[in-house]
Amino acid sequence: MKIDKQRRAFFMTGQVTKVNSDVHLPWLKNAEDFLDKCTQCEACMQRCPEEIIKKGEGGYPTVDFSLGECTFCRACTEHCPEDLFDTEQSVAWPLDLKVTDSCFTEKGIVCQSCRDACEPQAISFYYEAGEIPKPEINLSSCTSCGACVSSCPANAISLTRIDDSSIAIFEKPLSGKKEFTNG
Ligand code: SF4
Ligand code: SF4
Ligand code: SF4
Repeated sequence: MKIDKQRRAFFMTGQVTKVNSDVHLPWLKNAEDFLDKCTQCEACMQRCPEEIIKKGEGGYPTVDFSLGECTFCRACTEHCPEDLFDTEQSVAWPLDLKVTDSCFTEKGIVCQSCRDACEPQAISFYYEAGEIPKPEINLSSCTSCGACVSSCPANAISLTRIDDSSIAIFEKPLSGKKEFTNG
């Protein structure tokens, strides 16, 4: 049975905090190309077996890790009719992951859901005297699959891109050919 993590979080702490967990598609060549060449045809959304690609800001496809993890199957890149991807890049996304203060362990609640979800065992728990164990992400072992994001009942894992070009992707004024929407 799928756990409703927001309900669980509310039940346990009385509050739900939403953190940013959206990034753009894996193996993109660069942000300029993406904005200029993506036709918003939705082929990547329809072909992603994990159903984690949604329409994001400006109507562009966005991976929403709150819906699940990326298995790096490359279906999105293979079915895209445009020349947007370079799958020879060693990492799909240069991402920075952080555990925020919303983590249950900051409130004295024992939880290790993120560690259980992390296949490469990139999350460990450290102990300090008088406190319950807290999670720590080892970025050198992390594949940026996003599994910990959807598994966290407190929405406490923040995941952001670290390359400048992609962080600025929606700060660039959009050209006249596409209408900017909030949906
Ligand atoms: S690589 Fe596969 S799982 Fe990951 S976003 Fe693309 S289609 Fe989805
Ligand atoms: S398949 Fe390619 S062109 Fe179509 S929406 Fe996805 S990224 Fe854009
Ligand atoms: S994103 Fe990194 S830390 Fe999170 S589950 Fe995947 S490999 Fe583990």
